[in-house]
Amino acid sequence: MTLNFNTTLLHGSFNEKTFLGATTTPIFQVNAFSHESPEKLEKVFNNKAAGYAYSRIGNPTVSAFEKTVADLEHGIGAVACSSGMAAITLTLLNILSSGDEVIAASGLFGGTIDLFGDLRSFGINIRFVNHISTENIEPLITDKTKAVFAELIGNPALDIVDIEDVSGFLHEKGIPLIIDSTAATPYLTNPIEFGADIVVHSSSKYINGSATAISGIIVDSGKFQWSKERYPSFAEYERFGKFAFLSKLRNGIWRNFGACLSPFNAYLNNIGIETLGLRMEQVCSGADRLAQFFDSVEGVEVNYPTLSSNPYSGLAKKYLKGKGGAIITIRPGSKEKAFRLINELKIPLVATNIGDVRTLVIHPSSTIYAHASPEQKKNAGVYEDTIRISVGIEDVEDLIADFKQAIEKI
Ligand SMILES: *Cc1c(COP(=O)(O)O)cnc(C)c1O
Repeated sequence: MTLNFNTTLLHGSFNEKTFLGATTTPIFQVNAFSHESPEKLEKVFNNKAAGYAYSRIGNPTVSAFEKTVADLEHGIGAVACSSGMAAITLTLLNILSSGDEVIAASGLFGGTIDLFGDLRSFGINIRFVNHISTENIEPLITDKTKAVFAELIGNPALDIVDIEDVSGFLHEKGIPLIIDSTAATPYLTNPIEFGADIVVHSSSKYINGSATAISGIIVDSGKFQWSKERYPSFAEYERFGKFAFLSKLRNGIWRNFGACLSPFNAYLNNIGIETLGLRMEQVCSGADRLAQFFDSVEGVEVNYPTLSSNPYSGLAKKYLKGKGGAIITIRPGSKEKAFRLINELKIPLVATNIGDVRTLVIHPSSTIYAHASPEQKKNAGVYEDTIRISVGIEDVEDLIADFKQAIEKI
């Protein structure tokens, strides 16, 4: 029986018999697991027997979280990390060697852009395009291009990548597509179904839901052929077949960097993710109504994927069930007006994250994009007067009334 999203989430991989009938996976807040003999521990250590040895390498609470996300994303497995940034870093380092190139969009999450700068001193070069499309990336591809990295919904640019088109093109050239699907979530789409090879999430956001734990996760489609000719570091992992990427990651860079997810944070995610479907329905319908309200206000420019005037509304239909996600950006005309508007708001919190159940606002140009170049700001849709709104699950009538009174004051 194939189950739908919420049923899969609640019952799919969970078996209450595993933990004495406990109805959710308990927190295994321990560092190590003892075994009855050195022979048994030898087997566990060498992946010859199922079991856990040390929580940096594996922990049942963390495994439960990984299994849930892998199932929701239709991947063959997942690896949880201490943060979304760790997930992105370790995905890239698992594939790349000095001298390699990656193509990425310049309107990405600010931390990812900063990371790309850090990777330069390790000989890894990132070539930026203003939006990931076949047309834009084709001229930049060389035999050093080892991956293309894109956010399915750019944060805060809100551009949507035509992943089916781009992955089809890349696969002909033997290049994998890595998708950061944080803003889209597995509820709205499964990038793997459209050809993405690796999917990463900052699970600190919608997956956790209430902003109670920082974490990230890497999901593998198992479909990409990591040939040892193009990816020499995969030579000893070829024997794992479709599990080559995950085996290399788990037994190598992920375990050795030590950016593991703590059991307690995995537990918070295991609880939070249970309501992902409900929350996404509520935040998407709220964001859609709030965006339509902004669209009707003179003097305020609004960017939201499902507005009929938006260039990405067609791709939102194709990839996001016709929904636009929870993020809206607006431009009230000047930085001064943007600050005044934010100061007049009563409900939203002024905070840097997204994906909380509470509505959050931020002025990106002076905060998360403070270090970006004017070019990067422009490509991310970050202007002096841009406000990013991460819509929560509040009653949307209250949000509209609050923004209305604040706009009237400015
Ligand atoms: C927040 C975020 C990240 C980074 O995740 P952390 O959990 O903060 O390390 C990466 N990508 C996107 C799209 C994000 O929103």
